[in-house]
Amino acid sequence: MLGQVLLAASGSGVVRRAVSAFPLTRKVVDRFVAGESVQEARDAIERLRDMKLAVTVDHLGEETRDARAAEATANAYLTLLDAVRPLDLGVRGEVSVKLSAVGQRLDDAMALEHARGICAAAARNGSTVTLDMEDHTTVDSTLTILRKLREDFPSTGVAIQAYLFRSEADCRDLAAEGSRVRLVKGAYREPASVAHQGRGAVDKAYVRCLRILMAGKGYPMVATHDDRMIAITEVLADRFGRTIGDHEFQMLYGIRTDLQESLAGAGHTVRVYVPYGDDWYGYFMRRLAERPANVAFFLRALGGK
Ligand SMILES: Cc1cc2nc3c(=O)[nH]c(=O)nc-3n(C[C@H](O)[C@H](O)[C@H](O)COP(=O)(O)OP(=O)(O)OC[C@H]3O[C@@H](n4cnc5c(N)ncnc54)[C@H](O)[C@@H]3O)c2cc1C
Repeated sequence: MLGQVLLAASGSGVVRRAVSAFPLTRKVVDRFVAGESVQEARDAIERLRDMKLAVTVDHLGEETRDARAAEATANAYLTLLDAVRPLDLGVRGEVSVKLSAVGQRLDDAMALEHARGICAAAARNGSTVTLDMEDHTTVDSTLTILRKLREDFPSTGVAIQAYLFRSEADCRDLAAEGSRVRLVKGAYREPASVAHQGRGAVDKAYVRCLRILMAGKGYPMVATHDDRMIAITEVLADRFGRTIGDHEFQMLYGIRTDLQESLAGAGHTVRVYVPYGDDWYGYFMRRLAERPANVAFFLRALGGK
């Protein structure tokens, strides 16, 4: 219930202004966001690299309805990729892109063009791009853009949200040689007409999608902090003869860092999703909505305790 309220608030301009302007908010945001500048993002990436963690870096922002802002976001990715090139991370330093931040709401062709530029810059680093998945109205457009990007940049990946009814079929389509699919539970408020509701149903759907991806020929990126999903991944890897290098785990910056380190210590590729930039509001509210304990943490910080 609280989660639904927070997800609704994540779309409200009034709440955004109130939360963003509150001075102590910043302290809490820092738990989930690597910083506002490229330099802060780079410092965080170096720290994670030294802990044997791979990264996928997200320049925060979404739902752009202005062509200049879309271009600015694309340029921010180019600047970031230039800044991290000397770290020589190769495939361990990819980026995540929300197509709505590079113009998808205005024009698919614009989003494709910007995403192409980002893919080319990532390729110059020996790396690649994963497309985040946003609300259900964007899925067809995102998968179409993915197909076009993969013609020139075959390693471009995409996130699939297990909570959507359609996702098992999408996983089947994508579980082919060379494809990279990040499986997530899903973070948006979706109607019962398109998505499973409630934790139990979403978890079951996650396992069904996971099974399809692990049985397939692609590279599954298992993005979850859920111990049960991680244990099931290991069982499925065994069953389908997968080795430690042909799938990976992904988690969010600042969440279950103990688990990130222990899986990496056991030899798994663990990739941390590192968001940075000043447009952190939507991302931050989704993290609060996922876990009531985060709201308590937020309220304690606002109270100065
Ligand atoms: C790398 C990565 C990329 C993602 N990309 C997308 C995307 O493109 N589109 C999309 O819709 N969603 C995306 N998500 C978010 C995802 O959909 C879920 O909302 C989020 O991962 C929580 O689900 P969970 O699988 O961790 O399971 P849950 O059942 O929500 O959580 C399992 C356990 O993880 C811990 N945990 C989970 N969330 C939090 C939190 N916010 N704070 C503290 N602890 C927490 C808790 O211990 C919890 O008990 C991404 C997630 C990851 C890890």
